[in-house]
Amino acid sequence: MADVKDRVCIIGGGPAGISAAMYLQKKGYDNYEVYEKLGKVGGKAFSPKLEVNGKTRSYETGAIMGAITYHAVHEVEEFGGVGHDDGPNMRRMYRNKDGKEIFPFEPKKDFSVSKLIKLIKLKKQMKKLVEIMETKYAGYDCYGHRGVAQGKYSGLSKKVDNALELIEGENPNLKDLALPFDQFCKLNGVEEIMRIWLGPYTSFGYGYFDEIPAAYVMKYLDTTTAIEFIAMRLWTWKDGTQSIYEAANKKLLHPAHLRSEVVKVERPPVGEEGKIKVTIKDGSGERVEEFDKLIVTTPLDYFKDYADAREEEKELFSKIIHEKYVDFIAKFGSGRGPTISGYIFDNMVPERLGHAMVYYHRWEDLKANCPSTVYALRNHMGSADVSYDDTIRMMTEDLKTCGFPVEERLYEQETYYCPHVSPKDYADGWYDKLDAMQGKQNTWYAGEIISFGDMEDTCAASKDLIERFF
Ligand SMILES: Cc1cc2nc3c(=O)[nH]c(=O)nc-3n(C[C@H](O)[C@H](O)[C@H](O)COP(=O)(O)OP(=O)(O)OC[C@H]3O[C@@H](n4cnc5c(N)ncnc54)[C@H](O)[C@@H]3O)c2cc1C
Repeated sequence: MADVKDRVCIIGGGPAGISAAMYLQKKGYDNYEVYEKLGKVGGKAFSPKLEVNGKTRSYETGAIMGAITYHAVHEVEEFGGVGHDDGPNMRRMYRNKDGKEIFPFEPKKDFSVSKLIKLIKLKKQMKKLVEIMETKYAGYDCYGHRGVAQGKYSGLSKKVDNALELIEGENPNLKDLALPFDQFCKLNGVEEIMRIWLGPYTSFGYGYFDEIPAAYVMKYLDTTTAIEFIAMRLWTWKDGTQSIYEAANKKLLHPAHLRSEVVKVERPPVGEEGKIKVTIKDGSGERVEEFDKLIVTTPLDYFKDYADAREEEKELFSKIIHEKYVDFIAKFGSGRGPTISGYIFDNMVPERLGHAMVYYHRWEDLKANCPSTVYALRNHMGSADVSYDDTIRMMTEDLKTCGFPVEERLYEQETYYCPHVSPKDYADGWYDKLDAMQGKQNTWYAGEIISFGDMEDTCAASKDLIERFF
């Protein structure tokens, strides 16, 4: 039973946790607490400030951009009083693995008849995809995955004209979304479009098209969002994506407790009333707080490590797979770095695991003196992982091949990225099993796994959760 007086514990102060607190507060809850183990909010929206040429500005190590379809992020922005019109422009070029500039989508540059024929085919298939997604796969463009494995849809709409309204219905064709994305494209005769989706998908660390269910591709890069990416009509933030959540956190009645890790959760047994005991570890030691309800926004596959997880939780969460996405901010010798962001398409295939796929040049006025962030994946389902050290070495060599010798790595990380389930588990109704568990032992699950590993899908999942259950 929803009661605004309930005391609610939110684990994690990333986009999911901060937006969950915001939506609770908007609904009238004023007795919630957010616990964040790091000394900052925003989670993987992490935008450290660096001084270059006497100017201190934000750089991105995690989330960078949004688009017109970022409806829930926009609600968080408005709540915190942050806009997205002040960020740097996104600019890009393409290279092959030998570092040479290529023009895969420009028929006039490096002209050849075979390239022209491929581009005409690509254009036709793009048109076909837009059509079938609106008709054969009607209902695909809502957040989350409830019912999809049963040929149904139920979630907040992503469409610009009825954004964030609950839409529900049946469409048996939606079951195809459990197929790996390459098979989905083959089934529908639109294989060429993978060349477009690859850039904002695989290079952004979301995995390879032979392993990822099509649902995770098309629900994130729905045709509207994909077109915005192609046209580079993207949102960025002057002070970085972290600033969205920092600002919203300041407007919360109860801003997140920083450096406060949840290390233990003890819940009354299923069916019994009582308080949930949460142990928090901070600079002063450990303390136990009591709550009526719990919202977990942190990786569910790690929940069992600190909580009294039931067998069904352990079993379901053990199916979660995540990507190992590595990035570092590279500093180059004076005047020796890139002047624009680059996509290295040849490296976006499993055979080139561990190689640099994309690098991000943020501040145009710094030209070749701008530190740039470079990104690679080091895992692929069915292959051995490339070691972290080898990945860093290959990324560094790739930048050198492009003509940008790395002088220093200013910051580096590997993230737990894009949690998802396999095509088989998706088809077996993993998401309906998860939904059936929502609310048991007064525990609710939010965060990236619910919809997709981007800021918008995580914030929209929090909105959906609070609207349905609180
Ligand atoms: C390199 C990179 C590039 C990206 N680019 C984009 C982009 O351009 N656009 C986009 O929309 N998204 C992008 N993303 C994805 C986006 O950042 C994530 O999807 C989003 O941050 C997920 O939010 P979350 O709250 O679910 O998880 P997280 O951001 O991971 O936040 C979880 C939080 O929980 C905390 N935590 C964990 N365990 C505990 C505990 N026991 N107690 C207390 N706190 C705990 C963590 O410290 C963390 O702050 C990118 C991410 C990365 C890494």
